[in-house]
Formats: sequence, structure tokens, C-alpha cells
Amino acid sequence: MRMDRREFVRLSLQALLAAGACPILSHAEARALSPGEDGVERHVTGCMWCQNGCSLIVYVKDGKAVHVTGNPADPVTRGRMCVKPLGSLELLQSPLRLTHPLKRVGPRGDGARFQRISWEQALDEIAAKLRSLRERHGGRALGIWASGRSASDGRKLNAAFARLYGTPNYEKTGPFCNYSAKPAGVSVVGTRHTPWTYTDDDFFAADLYVFVGSNMAATRPVIHSRLRERRAQGRCRLAAGPRPPGTPTRGFRSGPAPIWPWP
Ligand code: SF4
Repeated sequence: MRMDRREFVRLSLQALLAAGACPILSHAEARALSPGEDGVERHVTGCMWCQNGCSLIVYVKDGKAVHVTGNPADPVTRGRMCVKPLGSLELLQSPLRLTHPLKRVGPRGDGARFQRISWEQALDEIAAKLRSLRERHGGRALGIWASGRSASDGRKLNAAFARLYGTPNYEKTGPFCNYSAKPAGVSVVGTRHTPWTYTDDDFFAADLYVFVGSNMAATRPVIHSRLRERRAQGRCRLAAGPRPPGTPTRGFRSGPAPIWPWP
């Protein structure tokens, strides 16, 4: 039975929720889900869903993205990707996707109603409210939180806006996400900016990988799939603490972190 892409994404996401690990597709498997090749252009790009940063090929027909696969020319991913980019196409083309500003009319809460307004009106009203907030309470009344997945240019613009507005209350996801890794980088390799050298003679040359507080099976699934492959070939060992990778909701223990051999 040939499965279409939407059905594949649905089943994969169910499997993901059940197992806590993200399904991986080879280039050939992703190609097999393609709706067809006629009149299709190929564009090499990068995935922004997670820090794995996989190289992708997006297939465009009549100006519309119709399919996506991993890039077989990429030496790290070797054409693999996880299932999430396929879901991106669904998000991009969903009729529920918000493509214009909406303004609430009436009270908040269940049953709140919204009406469409122009971008000019939306920006003018937001600017007026920000100006009023600063006049009444000072710049520090504003806190800005930027997503870790915003493009770095966007984050710099956010920081510049915070300075211009006069608030020091600007942060990104770093303190809750990756800042704790920086002291580890300093103590192990002497720099807080540890390079992501996912190359065969560097990251993939180790004999033992210990995941501490990291569930790489879910958060960098393509890289993790290559580690599992190396392990199956007897070329490395994997261990994790405080909970086993790939099973984020099971096996958790409080107290001293145990080290789990890979099951
Ligand atoms: S692992 Fe999946 S979500 Fe992360 S960058 Fe690669 S394809 Fe995107």
C-alpha cells in the first residue's frame, strides 16, 4: 500500500509520541513520499526546527513547496532528515495558518472574537501602546523574550530594539536551554563556543558518548541516528543520565543522577 505524505506524517507523529524518539527518513524513503517530479525545481536549504541544522532539498512547483527530503550530498546527515520537515509543509499550506493581523473585539476568554485589520493599523496600534507604556512606567516595564529558533539577525534586531526602547529586560532561550553547556565547554575544551564539528574525524570518531541531561534521540534525531548506527557496528558505546535517551517519560529518577548503559 502506498502511503501519502500526510498519512505518513500522522502515523510518524503518533509513533513519536508513543516512543519519545523522532522517526528518521533516508533520502530514498523521503523521495518515495513525493507527489511527483513533473515541473519540479529543487532548492537546497537548511532546516530550522532544531539545532541539528540538517541540509534539506525543498521541491517547488509553480511557486509552491510541494515536498522536502534530506540532502544526500551533505556529508554529515547523508541525506537523512527526521519527520518534522514534512510537517513544515503542512504548516506552510494549512488554511488555518495566520497570514494577517487579527485584533480582538470584545472581551477576552473563551468565545473571544477577532477581526482582520491591516498591517499598518496593527503596527500603529502596537507602537502607540509601547510608547504609552514607556511614558507611564519607564522603559524597564517592558520585557522581551526571543525564541531560540528566531534567525540570529532577528535576535540582534530584538536586542537593538530593547536598547533603543530603554529596557535591559531582554533574553532569549539560552538561560533555560544551552547556557549551562558553556561552563562544560570551557572546562573540557577551553572555550564556551564549542564548535559543532559533526565530522567523521571529530564528533563521530569518539569511542564513548555520555549524554547528561540531554535526550538527543528527540532533540537532534539525525545525529543520534548516526550514533546508533556506529554503536550497532560496534564502533562506540552510548550511556546516559539521569534518564535513558529515547525514553523521555520513563526511567526518570530523582536524587543522584544514574548513568544508564544503552539498553
Ligand atoms: S533533526 Fe529534524 S528537525 Fe532537526 S534539523 Fe534535522 S530535519 Fe530538522
